[in-house]
Amino acid sequence: MTSPAPAGTGPTEADWAAAVAAVRGLPATARVLLICHVNPDGDALGSMLGFGLGLRRLGVRQLQATFPGPPEVPESFRWLPGIELLVPQDEAYPDPDLVICFDAASESRLGDLVDRLAGSGAALVLDHHASNTRFGGIHLVDPHAAATSVVAEELLRRLGVALDAEIATGLYVALSTDTGSFRFEATTPAVHAMAGRLLATGIRPGEISRRIYDTRPFGAVRLFGEVLLRARLEPAAAAGHGLVWTYATRDDLARHDQPAYVLEALIDSVRCTAEADVACVVKQVSDREWAVSLRSKGAVDVSAVAVALGGGGHRFAAGFTGRGTVDEVVASIRAELSGALLAG
Ligand code: 5GP
Ligand code: MN
Repeated sequence: MTSPAPAGTGPTEADWAAAVAAVRGLPATARVLLICHVNPDGDALGSMLGFGLGLRRLGVRQLQATFPGPPEVPESFRWLPGIELLVPQDEAYPDPDLVICFDAASESRLGDLVDRLAGSGAALVLDHHASNTRFGGIHLVDPHAAATSVVAEELLRRLGVALDAEIATGLYVALSTDTGSFRFEATTPAVHAMAGRLLATGIRPGEISRRIYDTRPFGAVRLFGEVLLRARLEPAAAAGHGLVWTYATRDDLARHDQPAYVLEALIDSVRCTAEADVACVVKQVSDREWAVSLRSKGAVDVSAVAVALGGGGHRFAAGFTGRGTVDEVVASIRAELSGALLAG
């Protein structure tokens, strides 16, 4: 167990040393399990698989990657190098020698995989959420990192693993998706420097971007049209900063024959609304359960809203699970926003 670093600061040298020792000290027969958060996004999958390929280069043979819930990877990520490391959660080693967790801020994001943390020899947590609850044994949590893959790249460097095109692809997908394709404020000089190192391996950014952002089935295009048409604008919400929101039901998905993950991209078409600082998409999970995505352009700290409603995230991108009807879920958000949780 490494001593906790003060909130807001990145890993200490002792944290890095402990992480390097945990990997380097593995016997040849060690079983290593990589896990990430439920409904894995580009950062979760890209940093996990990119790092996994790095472990392969180090000679780790017994290596699996998994995530909680149905073993369905969004179509846009199925081509990622290292995807063959993935196994359904039920087939993951029950008692691995080392668990490495990617992009999860808390145990609540790990579903049934929480038991693997308890049952493992050592648990290493790589993350970049300021709200990380430090649920492992060794923590590499850097709230200033634009993506978890920033932390993963640094650990690979300290392990002496050279970047190659396969490793770089996952790390690049992670960096690109968590910076909104290099558009968000998190896009620092360090982010571009890392992107430069990754591109220097020969990976093709145009092709990667087309696959992860600009490819979707026609059914999803029509579904988006329908869901966007019912968007509501509330200019007075969030103390006058404005709220735009919409929702999608399981019936909407069924009518257009689409899987739930296609809705992950919907928030980007909603949050461009000029008249609202806060954007919200409410996605039906079961009868009275909804996965809620929140985004802010900068005036409102939506992570505070999400935390108040049982979720979490970053200041300008957060989420939670809402219960009840759509109107009840949106009413709860409106109420939290009227508390004017303005970002400092
Ligand atoms: P998204 O809207 O893309 O699903 O999530 C945006 C961010 O909010 C994620 O990076 C994640 O940190 C956080 N987030 C989304 N849903 C939840 C949730 O149900 N619980 C928690 N703790 N965080 C969430
Ligand atoms: Mn992330």
